[in-house]
Amino acid sequence: MLDFETCNKARLERDPDYDGRFFTAVRTTWIYCRPVCSVRQPLTKNISFFETAPAAEQAGYRPCLRCRPETVPFCPAWKGTKTTVERALRLIEDGALDSGSVAQLAERLGVGPRHLSRLFARHIGASPVQTAKTVRMRKAKRLLNQGGLTMAEVATRAGFKSVRRFNTVFRELYGRSPQALLKEVLKNGPTT
Ligand SMILES: [Zn+2]
Repeated sequence: MLDFETCNKARLERDPDYDGRFFTAVRTTWIYCRPVCSVRQPLTKNISFFETAPAAEQAGYRPCLRCRPETVPFCPAWKGTKTTVERALRLIEDGALDSGSVAQLAERLGVGPRHLSRLFARHIGASPVQTAKTVRMRKAKRLLNQGGLTMAEVATRAGFKSVRRFNTVFRELYGRSPQALLKEVLKNGPTT
């Protein structure tokens, strides 16, 4: 993980080189952002940094609606070096945890479920289940932005078991319904 000073300098300068390498979480608003976010910058005393979007979400932060931090692909810093985690992420992207369990995922990767969870804790800073949640939501947001789909279609295509589940998880994460967000998208245009 990058040190605090490096992250702080990067986010104050909105340095695009650091986009995706860390996320800024703001304690006063419970929102997390990309370093390039255009919203007014929070005071240094109110922030902390996370290496991944799932890690920030696991700590209870919501993604910023302006810079859409949850849509950033996973950090390239360790890409190619942590093969098991990388393969796991690919399988999660393909929906491995939408219908299957963590134990089944671990088995496909040839490791124990506890080992897999430890690897995720070390490299992602969040559990495989939380990571799948972030990935699912990222897919849903992309589909919502595209428009033209019903909520049921968005929910199914993103990997949710039901629309109700989708609505619940969405509310938990964004503090509003998908319909409310969709209205915003229609008004302001897609932001990603
Ligand atoms: Zn932001």
